[in-house]
Amino acid sequence: MKLTVKEIATLFGQNEFQEETIISTIEFDSRKITSGGLFVPLAGERDGHDFVAAAKENGAVATFWSRDLKDAPTDMVVILVADVLAALQTLAQYYLQKVNPKVAAITGSNGKTTTKDMTAAVMATQFKTYKTQGNYNNNIGMPYTILHMPTDCEVLVLEMGMDHAGELTELSLLAQPDAAAITIIGEAHIENLGSRTGIAKAKMEITAGLKRDGLLVIPADEPLLTPLIVDLPQKITTFGLDRGNLTATITKEDKAKTTFMIHKTEYTIPVIGGYNVKNALIAYALGKYFGVSPQNIQRGLAEFQLTKNRTEWLAAKNGAQILSDVYNANPTAMGLVLDTVSNLKTDGRKLAVLADMLELGPDSKTMHANMAYHIDDRFSVIFLYGSEMKALFNALTQKDSQFTVYHFDKENKAELIKLIQAELQPTDTIVLKGSNGMGLTEVVSALV
Ligand code: ATP
Ligand code: MG
Repeated sequence: MKLTVKEIATLFGQNEFQEETIISTIEFDSRKITSGGLFVPLAGERDGHDFVAAAKENGAVATFWSRDLKDAPTDMVVILVADVLAALQTLAQYYLQKVNPKVAAITGSNGKTTTKDMTAAVMATQFKTYKTQGNYNNNIGMPYTILHMPTDCEVLVLEMGMDHAGELTELSLLAQPDAAAITIIGEAHIENLGSRTGIAKAKMEITAGLKRDGLLVIPADEPLLTPLIVDLPQKITTFGLDRGNLTATITKEDKAKTTFMIHKTEYTIPVIGGYNVKNALIAYALGKYFGVSPQNIQRGLAEFQLTKNRTEWLAAKNGAQILSDVYNANPTAMGLVLDTVSNLKTDGRKLAVLADMLELGPDSKTMHANMAYHIDDRFSVIFLYGSEMKALFNALTQKDSQFTVYHFDKENKAELIKLIQAELQPTDTIVLKGSNGMGLTEVVSALV
């Protein structure tokens, strides 16, 4: 970014600063700040104000400050604010209005990061594009993303996450998107939102700041959204594999890529799964709305790169194929990944390692047990890991089936790894999925 000290101070009602010194970056981690930066002392486990001196040491020339002014440092610019987080958001909004890119916002229970990356790849074929880095999708991460956007940015693609009602309203009002998309209404964070109806309502908050003449892209196969869009002034595009105003027909699927037709044009994405074709439909709709040509949409989708650890193909030491999807998990996503692997044409056996899906609330056990509907004799061995997965173990062992099932408690990760290593044959395909908190990355590392 590029803002002057004077500009920033004025925004917070301090007119005594005449400095034209350029602030070139902001950070809330004092270890990350570089010279010419503004430090943002957020309250975390420890109050960021305790790290202002360290930030100065690392090159910060200015800091926000919400404590007593008499305790403030005297060797750097101190901008007094009532609330540091609110100040970060206010500054982001100011900078966004100044750069004034077209904004696309993406939310949904699953597939936000994937869709954001696909959309940005499509936009980047024609526009100077910036996007949410990694998964910085909340009320700190989104303003942080905005403030790191280059001054000549033409299109900004933002991932918006939430786990409580009200959060998306805040993000959408700040970003004022020209176009917004909802990937899917799943069960993530159902604990806080009560029901899928509650989740659908909360996702629709993405329209709070959406331009009145903007575009909203939503799944066609989600009846819960239907009553929520009737009074919206915005244009609406619904997408789906077999229904909606925008549909795709899958023509070819292999381990590395999926090919599909939209209208009469063929598109390829370097990832598997029908759900990723749906994500691509969103990128297509948003790209088209911003004026990207079909040829460029094709090129952007073909070249997009998946953020690490989300459905990654790796090779095991013995040559077996590993599908690592260990970053997060909820029932919708786990079911889809199991279905995708079931349908995959492979030479050898199929194995699955499934760890607990966390934060599912009172119905957690049932939701785990229901994964049994996605597991049949196309799989040979199932490894279950964690206390919640005990419910799936019970469901699977009651089923009349050919595959073998093992269950391990959380503390027995070493045994789990040992057994997988003993079982895994060079021609096998093995999928691993579970919540990040279950640490399946360690299992993947042990296999590759
Ligand atoms: P987070 O809430 O952690 O930010 P996210 O919404 O950004 O997650 P991604 O990181 O893009 O989601 O994808 C996570 C996993 O969700 C994928 O690995 C895949 O298993 C599943 N997934 C991706 N897209 C979809 C989709 N459209 N519908 C359902 N599941 C999906
Ligand atoms: Mg994400």
